[in-house]
Amino acid sequence: MIKKVVFIDMDGVIVDLGTNINNWFNKHPDLHKKYKQNPDHIPGIFRNPPPIKGAIEAVNKLAYSGKYELYIATSVPWGNSESYSDKKHWVENHFGKLFHKRIFSTHSKNMLIGDYLIDDRKKNGAVEFSGELLRFGFDWENDNKPNEYPTWEAILEKLL
Ligand SMILES: [Mg+2]
Repeated sequence: MIKKVVFIDMDGVIVDLGTNINNWFNKHPDLHKKYKQNPDHIPGIFRNPPPIKGAIEAVNKLAYSGKYELYIATSVPWGNSESYSDKKHWVENHFGKLFHKRIFSTHSKNMLIGDYLIDDRKKNGAVEFSGELLRFGFDWENDNKPNEYPTWEAILEKLL
């Protein structure tokens, strides 16, 4: 059987970056002004955020179904170089070897060739992806409206 190729975004899909940023600002109110516009430039903010609810179990289920080849597709903030290694660390920490040499870092997700892209945003080429975009979670740029697949349960229902 030919496996279908699935790209999985990180922030807002498997990584609860929003919660981590809120917690960080609560601990560092003095730095609110400095990072308010670009919270993704906060040093170390990508290293240990909590996972999105159900994400780790669901991704493992997809992997062990044998139906999919899984890759990470994440846009790494240009102004925070250490986030490259922080994100790789996060993936290994939560998934072990599952994504060994399978991490794409790109702002042009439309260049990726595959069947599905699970992403919370349309940006960085996601909406022009040649396969099917599975819009995950919440549209935090638009009143936090739920996207078509608000939870990992909905994704599993679609893909398993
Ligand atoms: Mg995202």
